[in-house]
Amino acid sequence: MGGTQIRVALVNGQGAVLARTATATDAAGGPRAVVRQIRQLFAEVSRGAGPASLAGVGVCMPGPLDSEAGVVLGIPTLPGWVDIPIVAWLREALDLPVTLENDGVAAAIGEWRFGAGRGLSDFVYVTVSTGIGGGVIADGRVLRGRRRLAAHLGHMTILAQGAPCSCGNRGCWEAQASGSALGELARRLAAEVPGSDLLRHGPAVTARHVMEAARAGDALGLQLVAREAEFLGMGIVNLLHLFSPQAVVIGGGVSNGFDLLHPGIEAHVRACALPAFCAVPVVAAQLGQNSGVVGAACLVLPRSGKP
Ligand SMILES: [Zn+2]
Repeated sequence: MGGTQIRVALVNGQGAVLARTATATDAAGGPRAVVRQIRQLFAEVSRGAGPASLAGVGVCMPGPLDSEAGVVLGIPTLPGWVDIPIVAWLREALDLPVTLENDGVAAAIGEWRFGAGRGLSDFVYVTVSTGIGGGVIADGRVLRGRRRLAAHLGHMTILAQGAPCSCGNRGCWEAQASGSALGELARRLAAEVPGSDLLRHGPAVTARHVMEAARAGDALGLQLVAREAEFLGMGIVNLLHLFSPQAVVIGGGVSNGFDLLHPGIEAHVRACALPAFCAVPVVAAQLGQNSGVVGAACLVLPRSGKP
């Protein structure tokens, strides 16, 4: 479940998505309405599978949440989501075992088991879309931290007095480099730069339009991509120094432009990371839009030896 969309998928033990459906999140309706939506999508997707063949339901959502207690602590972008015992509610609604995980961590687990992180003992997964989130695999296990709240990567400060963030601070990585931040900047600059391709989208310009414009050689599009790559690079340099991963895996909507962003990210890493960290590859996620649902499924799928 995300702030804009709820996706439900039927996933088998090999990580293959057998069925998938989605709907717009009823954010205004609050948690009870969302549970009803999930129940409806679940019924749609699981129609082909006998109840006996379902191992359970893995759920991932934006945090902060207490995955052990099964409680959402408070989602800054969604009103009414404070101290919601979502696992208990869903267990009752779906009549199956339910496991909860932070969305970034779940996607990291999905990429670890079936995607770009296969075989690695240390990597950081970063999702760049409406916000920025992620998960850290360190020394062959998921890094959890106190109350399992580790890896809120999007809220590390990378710019003093920077853009305001949903968390109340300024200059968070998410506020500077998320897809929404990129769209917002594009809206502002497109109005000031005459002749840009981006002008024709008016106030509806998004990160996707920026990528399309850059691909078509539009000067403002290219400038925005270069700036986005630099901000992503800044956060990634911090992650390299903190966790010494074997790779940094980038997913989320903005990673559709990964090929455009990659040279700028690499250049920033080479310029700013300590020499011992410069050769660490920054790669695209392999599960694409499915990292989250596959990762959520991994929470309940029989395990193949990984913690
Ligand atoms: Zn923040």
